[in-house]
Amino acid sequence: MVPRSRGRQRRVLNSRAPARRPSARAPDRFTSRWRRAFGQLVFPQDCCLCERTLEDPLRSPVCPECAAGLCPLVVPTCPRCGLFLAPSVTPGLCGECRARRRPFRVAVAAAPYEGAFRRALLELKFRRREVLAELLARPAISAFRRASVDHGARAAGEFPAAVVAVPVPFWRGRRRGFNQAELLARPVAREFGIPLVRGVLRRRSRPPQTLVSPSARRRNVRGAFRAGPLPERLAGRPLLLVDDVFTTGSTVEAAVRALLRAGAGPVDVLTVARAPSSR
Ligand SMILES: [Zn+2]
Ligand SMILES: [Zn+2]
Repeated sequence: MVPRSRGRQRRVLNSRAPARRPSARAPDRFTSRWRRAFGQLVFPQDCCLCERTLEDPLRSPVCPECAAGLCPLVVPTCPRCGLFLAPSVTPGLCGECRARRRPFRVAVAAAPYEGAFRRALLELKFRRREVLAELLARPAISAFRRASVDHGARAAGEFPAAVVAVPVPFWRGRRRGFNQAELLARPVAREFGIPLVRGVLRRRSRPPQTLVSPSARRRNVRGAFRAGPLPERLAGRPLLLVDDVFTTGSTVEAAVRALLRAGAGPVDVLTVARAPSSR
């Protein structure tokens, strides 16, 4: 798993303490591990998703087979929140969307958060593989294009006027040095020919959503986002909010509410992946 090996690597690089198990072979092992980690960072040899040897590692960290596997899942989804519905379920709004009003107009995801998509998103998040952002944005773009065609948004002039990325809290962004949602939002904006607007949405530090139980997530992100001021030309216009994963929806919903409070028109949500419903 990527985060685990990355964590190990960071611990080795940052460690000021003596090696945990000193032995005659320890320095060699340390050196070769460090060299391998450094080599992989600068010049990755294996596909970062399946570990097959890459023929052209400088071109892409993903082998052609894995790249081809990152395509949108075309099955019935909830027309409001994009939940992938089981074949046995009658197409229509999912239970949660029937039970409560969602703040977004529509949420679309390319695929369930599993397999190659999950591995690629973790690689992007923890190793800043920007080329993966391009690869992952493609299926999201086609999923959104299909959904917006379904809704006739372009024809009705209701297609989003700009893209906004879900921000990471300031300190986490500083530490990691980038925001994976923004890396994904760039190709989306470019493809749709609309601007990516930065700085309109800000996020305060809260415990990471992954450390909070699903039922506490909504409470955890309440008031976490502040939006505005929106550029004048975007007031009342539809926006497209981009994030990497739609988990329970609490994060994107809090961000959407902040944008609506700031005077945005209807907000659509586009994520690469969608976790199964938490209920
Ligand atoms: Zn591969
Ligand atoms: Zn739904």
